[in-house]
Amino acid sequence: MTDIPRLDYSKPPPGYTADGQWWSHPPDEPSKVVFLGGYVDARNVARVAPDDGALAAAWAHYKAHNDPPGMWSGQARGEHPGGYGYALMESSHEHPLEADFERIDDARAAAWAWYDRRLALTSRLDTAPGFRVDHCGDCGAENEPSDRDRCTVCQRRGTIISTWGRAQAERYKSHERYTTAAGQRDQDVGPDIWPQSLTWSDAQVVEVERWLVDSTAEMPEVLRG
Ligand SMILES: [Zn+2]
Repeated sequence: MTDIPRLDYSKPPPGYTADGQWWSHPPDEPSKVVFLGGYVDARNVARVAPDDGALAAAWAHYKAHNDPPGMWSGQARGEHPGGYGYALMESSHEHPLEADFERIDDARAAAWAWYDRRLALTSRLDTAPGFRVDHCGDCGAENEPSDRDRCTVCQRRGTIISTWGRAQAERYKSHERYTTAAGQRDQDVGPDIWPQSLTWSDAQVVEVERWLVDSTAEMPEVLRG
């Protein structure tokens, strides 16, 4: 799959900028909004709280006007009970994941629910004890999972190699290489959690969620390296 952004809800939506406690969007495009003094502009009349609520409102506005990254919502072709559906961009629009919505807004909201559930699960996997382990390819030390590609023991940069799951860690220790923290791929890449998790079915998501809270359960198929 192509690279699909992992949204960070602690920051403004893509294209929105922070201005003090307000979030603004370039006003030169009709479909865009400006959050000023707690108001969305006249084209999008809505009042937002002049504090933390501004960020939530900016995201609500963004989600109402955009599909999730890597996803599509709209009118589904073919015979469907509703007529509107959503799909992953790399799958055919003619075969949506779900296509029984009567309103486009509902199809889009369902697409966001699909995306958000897998986004949250991916973040949990990043911090699941023992699941992701960062190894220094140079000194061999295990590091706490981090986005910084730098070993906390030998301080060398660009040496961190992440492994996911016990099987992959074992293979790494037997001197096979995987991906670096920068996402560069080496041979024999194990499970590609993001954006691959976007393709996981609800049943597969449930299986992973269950495994996260029950360490005695067998590791789900989608996580095995
Ligand atoms: Zn090191």
